[in-house]
Amino acid sequence: MSAEEAPEYPLEGVVSWNMNTTCNYRCTYCTQRFLDDRTRWAKDLPAFIAAFARLPGDWEIKLSGGEPFLHPRFLDLVGALAAQGRRVSVVTNLSAKEDVLLRYAALTAARPGVLSASLHLEYADPDAFREKLLRVAAAHAGRTCVTCVATRANLPRLAALREAFAPLSFKVQPEKQDRDVIDYGQDEQDALLALGGHNGTGALAPTYEGRMCWAGARYLIVDDRGDAWRCYPARRARTERLGNLLDGTFRPRFAPEPCRYSYCNCTIPRERGMVLPSPLPHRSA
Ligand code: SF4
Ligand code: SF4
Repeated sequence: MSAEEAPEYPLEGVVSWNMNTTCNYRCTYCTQRFLDDRTRWAKDLPAFIAAFARLPGDWEIKLSGGEPFLHPRFLDLVGALAAQGRRVSVVTNLSAKEDVLLRYAALTAARPGVLSASLHLEYADPDAFREKLLRVAAAHAGRTCVTCVATRANLPRLAALREAFAPLSFKVQPEKQDRDVIDYGQDEQDALLALGGHNGTGALAPTYEGRMCWAGARYLIVDDRGDAWRCYPARRARTERLGNLLDGTFRPRFAPEPCRYSYCNCTIPRERGMVLPSPLPHRSA
């Protein structure tokens, strides 16, 4: 691949921080349900805040879990990151009390990120979820979007739900079991593609294998213990670990490198231009 095909340097990097494994739901499709310990949460917040401050250049911190609002000092953390000048985003199941969600919106108002609300139909009533989300979105200065996993049970409902949530962006995520997209039938695949495919990529299992990607340099996955990885597929494969943010072993990349993975389920590198849209055929689900 020629150097011209490498995307431009992304001015704002993004950390996806899985800050806790705890969650108040137990979704049947949860990719974390096989974790040995679903009670972990990042304990030494000052050390994390200092580590994020040491990252080179400008960064957005995207908080996720588990359910990040369950972290016992979640709002303190959000306030500290905002005071540091970081853009803060969150992925949440929206089960937190509304006054807490509104406080989050206020704390991030100066430099808001994305509020990504995951609609889990095994737990949440979509009408109540929508009403609550619209109230929070009205107070949130950044973008608000909705995601929903397209289980076989959910799939027939998703087109109507997408309409009901308009004008909010409503993205679907194919269900994964054992780390791979489930074996959808042709009609189900067609329905999923009509809904935009995985997070609006137009594919069920997008691939950028071989293309230059800034993940590892301007995109990081960090867990509740500070372990850092190039991206979610890297963490899943236990490759391209970048050390630990808290113990002095963290070594980020400084340039884009070829993608090694046949299935990319990371939305941010694609949406932020860290990897160029693939001319390669999408991997079939
Ligand atoms: S809300 Fe998210 S983290 Fe919690 S069980 Fe469901 S999929 Fe897993
Ligand atoms: S899997 Fe996705 S995020 Fe990871 S290196 Fe490949 S394109 Fe980048």
